Amino acid sequence: MSEVNLDIFLEELVSKKILENVTKYCSKCYAELSENEKIYYDMQECNYLCFKCAYEKSQQMQKQMELIEEEQTKGLF
Ligand SMILES: [Zn+2]
Repeated sequence: MSEVNLDIFLEELVSKKILENVTKYCSKCYAELSENEKIYYDMQECNYLCFKCAYEKSQQMQKQMELIEEEQTKGLF
């Protein structure tokens, strides 16, 4: 299991271009991004998150998936 769910996030390295043209801050916790740091583009929300926030969201999604699977299993029996 990867740390960040790459089905919902695109992993990128922060470049000067991103800092100048896109964003300097994580859109969730507003941590300042620095060059060559890994950031994650959220394909559902269309915004950039720092590693910590992308990781947390991935964990939450994983939990939700497990809940859905549990309910489906319950429904079968
Ligand atoms: Zn963040």
